[in-house]
Amino acid sequence: MAKLLLIEDSKMFSNLIKNRVESDLNIPVVVASTLAEGKKQIMDQGDEFFLALLDLNLPDASGDEVVRFVRGEGIPSVVFTASFDENLRETILAMDVIDYVTKDNPSSVDYVVSLVQRIRNNASEKALVVDDSKVARTIASKLLRLFQFQVLEAESGQQALSIINDHTTRSGNEISLVLTDYNMPGMDGFELVRGIRKTCSKSTMAVIGISSQGGNAISTKFIKNGANDFITKPFFPEELLCRVSQNMDIIDQLNSLRVAATRDYLTGMVNRRYFFEMATPIYSNSKRNAADLIVAMIDVDHFKSVNDTYGHDVGDEVLIAVAGVLEKTSRDTDIIARFGGEEFCLIAPAIKQDDITPYLNLIRTRIEELSFEAGETTFQITASIGATRNLGTGLEQMIGDADAMLYNAKESGRNRVVIADY
Ligand code: GH3
Ligand code: MG
Ligand code: MG
Repeated sequence: MAKLLLIEDSKMFSNLIKNRVESDLNIPVVVASTLAEGKKQIMDQGDEFFLALLDLNLPDASGDEVVRFVRGEGIPSVVFTASFDENLRETILAMDVIDYVTKDNPSSVDYVVSLVQRIRNNASEKALVVDDSKVARTIASKLLRLFQFQVLEAESGQQALSIINDHTTRSGNEISLVLTDYNMPGMDGFELVRGIRKTCSKSTMAVIGISSQGGNAISTKFIKNGANDFITKPFFPEELLCRVSQNMDIIDQLNSLRVAATRDYLTGMVNRRYFFEMATPIYSNSKRNAADLIVAMIDVDHFKSVNDTYGHDVGDEVLIAVAGVLEKTSRDTDIIARFGGEEFCLIAPAIKQDDITPYLNLIRTRIEELSFEAGETTFQITASIGATRNLGTGLEQMIGDADAMLYNAKESGRNRVVIADY
């Protein structure tokens, strides 16, 4: 389900779009230049297409023929064509086409590319529609499903808050888009937005308020109460798509920035800077309650020789695999970060003294059990671990102590765990 089907007879446009979609978005594009070819592609690999981009005027098809066929096969579609009239627009939208774009200006290719990306991303996003009117809810839900969102529905503000809460995990809110009516019995739209903002920020959840025609004051108030945007009802489907896409694009960009600032590029693990942000409150809490806590430094042994023997790319694979073991083996309450190179830092609260050695040894042996292939040979690696449970004067001191124990582990032969006495 990961390819784009492009049915287009103009070589110029098909090349332009294929190149952009493949290089910018990393989505494979299958091109057909006639309806007959398109049919054949759908017959051969119909399940592979998450979206079709359709030119209406083909050597063997015109009007709504190609749309009728592709929609009949259940493939989400966008129409990209030279000209439109109002009748054609109505016919096409009635066939549940996501959007239509005219080829009349140079920026239309940019628009198509960003739309393809949006539709692809929407498939992994959850949206919630809140409206006490079943009819209004159904209209909005159907459109969001057409835009490929996973859609949930709530008939009141209270129910919406509880659904959002049920879809919140340790890594944050799973619902990234909320469409809410204003006038609902019990909790109105403003109150709902304020409730949402107690836990979900504007940068992780887009809330779009819906107000009836003439309700300009309501639109403004939605924004003042914390909504990202508003839309007036009744709306055109393409109007909703534009609003939703624009807001979701902003959320995605902010998310990319957040990932870049907090995560290590190679392994996707928490980076050193973000580790301190997350670990400082854990340390303070343990210190305040005189509770159990350990800090451990984990360092791959003779990693330089992995690079020297098998090359830097294989070295990278080793680091990714070690990161995988650390993420899988550590507990939900722990924070584990890549500190740099082949060195990782773990903070683990509420761990009983008797459990420390078995826990760290489990990490050590799981790294030892990893097996790597490079050309004809297979090889394994080991890691040394230094740790402390002495809370000392601060997190920095604990890290320094763990580092000293790591040094001891290296000096005394590597592939071992050394824990500070105190
Ligand atoms: P020891 O057992 O004493 O820890 O020896 P070592 O070789 O593991 O440690 P050393 O610090 O001498 O070398 C670490 C090497 O890690 C040097 C550096 O080139 C390599 N390295 C650092 N970051 C990366 C990375 O992102 N990818 C790869 N492939 N190598 C990296
Ligand atoms: Mg090392
Ligand atoms: Mg090192």
